[in-house]
Amino acid sequence: MNKQLKTSNGEVVSLGIEWTHVFGPGSGYTWNPVAGCRHGCRWEMPDGSVAECYAKVVAEGLAAATYPEGFQAHYWRPDKLDEPLRLETPAGVFLDSMSDLFGHWVPENEVLGVLDVVRRAHWHVFFSLTKNAPGLLRYAAHLPPNLWAGVSMPPTFMWGKRLSSDAQSRLLKRALEVLAALDVPVRWLSLEPLSFDVAPVLERSGFVPEWLVIGAASNGRVKFQPDPEWVRAVHDFADRHGIPVFHKGNLRWQARREDFPRWPLPRYVYVGHRAHKGRLADPVRRPDGRVVVGSGKGPRNALIRWADTGELCVVPARTLRLYEKWRRSDGQP
Ligand code: SF4
Repeated sequence: MNKQLKTSNGEVVSLGIEWTHVFGPGSGYTWNPVAGCRHGCRWEMPDGSVAECYAKVVAEGLAAATYPEGFQAHYWRPDKLDEPLRLETPAGVFLDSMSDLFGHWVPENEVLGVLDVVRRAHWHVFFSLTKNAPGLLRYAAHLPPNLWAGVSMPPTFMWGKRLSSDAQSRLLKRALEVLAALDVPVRWLSLEPLSFDVAPVLERSGFVPEWLVIGAASNGRVKFQPDPEWVRAVHDFADRHGIPVFHKGNLRWQARREDFPRWPLPRYVYVGHRAHKGRLADPVRRPDGRVVVGSGKGPRNALIRWADTGELCVVPARTLRLYEKWRRSDGQP
């Protein structure tokens, strides 16, 4: 997993993907158990230049050693599967920033394996983004509640061909239909880059996502701001329906909006705690009725029972403290 916020000598040098910081600065990660992508997204910029997918640029540049067969090949990295389970502190995890987990070429057993880890890592929020909405729909019955299921704006070029404006609108409309059919608490749209007037498509669809992220277009270091009317129209839509909007850092806009949706924190019953390392001791019922797990220098891990599944789970005591803090503040981090 890659931490998104980078610091040097105590100074923040890069925020990375800002919308992953759902649990506060420094809490965002990317996780790529599946890598490589066949969609071939490219964007025509207002100056006529064409921007390649950022993941492709990284995979063919800085990370070329880990993509020996190129970015269009498919890579399955099972050794990365348990990474979220080993991360104690609650995090916002962008699932597959270097691929599209719901791409048509990704084998079902891999998708289900990844979703199983997402479900088991209850204490994190995972963000998925796809450009293949029907692929997401295929797994509708397997999406865990801590997965924020998202769809991105259609690009200008995909699968080696230019998408007409009509085709882009049709793809967005289909994506909204798919999101509407999902039973997860947070369904969202990444409008980055906001390259056409999407508000009328949103209005006509009749579906209101739980979250909208807006960004500008960029080609390397050059940024292109969207038409302000398009941004205003998205804001109007969001405000009318009371949905939070998050501005990417590349969007120049006053005032900045960096809001996250409310989401149901997983409910649990506290069973006890264990003190440190290795073994998980059996819970012991004390004479005063308290159930305690382990002993020693204070709790590091808590034993809880998830209310929805009844499953026992060891989670960091820190996680529970954070959860309780958010619960007191109406579920918001
Ligand atoms: S779906 Fe994402 S990773 Fe794949 S080509 Fe498009 S932008 Fe790149």
